[in-house]
Amino acid sequence: MSNAIPKLITAVAQLRKKLAAVRREGKRIGLVPTMGALHEGHLSLVRAAKGECGCAVVSIYVNPTQFGPNEDFSKYPRTLEADLKLLAGCGADVVFAPTNDEVYAAGHATWVEVGAVAEPLEGQCRPGHFRGVATVVLKFFNMVQPDAAYFGQKDFQQAAVIRRMTADLNLPLAIRVCPTVREPDGLAMSSRNRYLSPAARQRALVLWRSLQTAVKLVQEGQRDASRIVARMREMIETAEDARIDYIALVDPDTLQPVGRITGRTLAVLAVKIENTRLIDNCLLEPKG
Ligand code: AMP
Repeated sequence: MSNAIPKLITAVAQLRKKLAAVRREGKRIGLVPTMGALHEGHLSLVRAAKGECGCAVVSIYVNPTQFGPNEDFSKYPRTLEADLKLLAGCGADVVFAPTNDEVYAAGHATWVEVGAVAEPLEGQCRPGHFRGVATVVLKFFNMVQPDAAYFGQKDFQQAAVIRRMTADLNLPLAIRVCPTVREPDGLAMSSRNRYLSPAARQRALVLWRSLQTAVKLVQEGQRDASRIVARMREMIETAEDARIDYIALVDPDTLQPVGRITGRTLAVLAVKIENTRLIDNCLLEPKG
């Protein structure tokens, strides 16, 4: 595989021209939508796109409409040079990093609202977030027209929202969801981890530890969701500066809370550590 820096494109017209040539070569196109500040989690999606489709397109765009007024849009890390170097090592063919004007032209007034799966959890804590996500992802789908698009399990609800939108709007592409990539100590990789001080980075491990505790409790036969959530809450509350947005055990398809664990269940949480909001999740699979 070549280690060439991928072609950087900022205009939709140029993108369409480049991708028409790729299609003429008989290649399929895999899209990895990102907000940049790339890490190994993003790169795993790029490798999957390249392997399955032959041509991997990575979009890098910090989408203003998915951030709330008091969120981190202005301070979100923007590291395009470093991102391009990382992408050179994993087979990305095209990086599409459009300007705001290219994405939201003057007079933009159309929004995508996804129903029930977008409402709980992140939807409740971040009003308008999924409206911004669904809208920008649909725009990228239309700009790139990929055969498949790749998302991370780490943002489980986001993947569910995109899957719902894709089915409901009859979009002609496959949605792939790839496993969460973690640091060796278990912390889920995230562009926001770089906000954490070294001490907070250590405290943030309690998220993964509490998810592991949920797995262990289920393995030991615990089926009462409220007891598992209570144990997770207790653990997280011991970390200094930890503020819990939610901890929940939900049905992985509907994202509605479950009372008893009778089948595959998703443990999900969102916690602020030292003002950095982190999310993570883990599948619980009861045996027998
Ligand atoms: P972001 O740039 O944070 O919007 O993420 C872009 C894509 O990368 C989304 O589909 C995320 O779910 C995915 N992603 C982010 N972190 C990870 C991770 N640690 N492992 C796997 N995928 C990830």
